[in-house]
Amino acid sequence: MSGSFSIRRIRFTNPICHRPCYRHGFAHVYGLCISAASQPWYTNTMTLALHPVPMRTDNYAWLVSDTESDLRAIIDPCEEQPALEALRQSGGHLALILLTHHHDDHIAAAAALRERTGALIAGAAADADRLPRLDHALHEGDRLPFGTLAEFQVINTPGHTRGHISYFMPQGPFLFCGDTLFSLGCGRLFEGTPEDMFKSLRKIATLPADTLIACGHEYTSANARFALHVDPDNAVLQRRTADVTRMRASGQPSLPVTLAQELATNPFLRASNPHALGELRQMKDRF
Ligand SMILES: [Zn+2]
Repeated sequence: MSGSFSIRRIRFTNPICHRPCYRHGFAHVYGLCISAASQPWYTNTMTLALHPVPMRTDNYAWLVSDTESDLRAIIDPCEEQPALEALRQSGGHLALILLTHHHDDHIAAAAALRERTGALIAGAAADADRLPRLDHALHEGDRLPFGTLAEFQVINTPGHTRGHISYFMPQGPFLFCGDTLFSLGCGRLFEGTPEDMFKSLRKIATLPADTLIACGHEYTSANARFALHVDPDNAVLQRRTADVTRMRASGQPSLPVTLAQELATNPFLRASNPHALGELRQMKDRF
């Protein structure tokens, strides 16, 4: 690859182009599916791919590939072997390990992956004392360049933990939000208040509607049961639940999901104030 390529952002009106390709396990980006199994793939459009990497029982790490620069980033790896296998399949060089929060099921493999690949670890400066040693200690508004033209933008999203951050890549657009927002749910409030989580979800709600939400767990089926319990007449939620049931029955991830879909279906994202969100969270904890 050499020379300057004109970046043509292709806008598709058909929403299916922003759904993940379940044949290959990748999101469609700019209407194209990029398979990990394929050889390096070149184009004169921006070439970002998003790949869920299942870990432990229900965690997802996320592999982001920029095929033009051949760089990779991984978000929240807790197991080394699945991460290395995903990297082997995708090829390229791991440049960044991004951490959303300090829980073991989001960080456990970070130090070993740095040791093995030379990738740099990024995480919240506020939580530096309980994260692996950080090469990039981040604050809200910081931008981490990635690949040829992309970047990760840091958004403080406390609530689940006090130092939780999310990473927004506008060139996807992708959001890596750890245990803040789940499809049809949100994280438990271990260290934050309903007010904290409400503010965090409001920030996410203002991102572009076609943002692909890449969160930390496959909790969607259980979340759908609760969402239907509190919002039984929501036709979009009913369709999403049927889709998720079908995807999970065939072994496919229910993620990523668009923000537009979540704004129409997620009771926590739709809560009108912190009090309402707090009540929902308490109901869900007992559900
Ligand atoms: Zn967590």
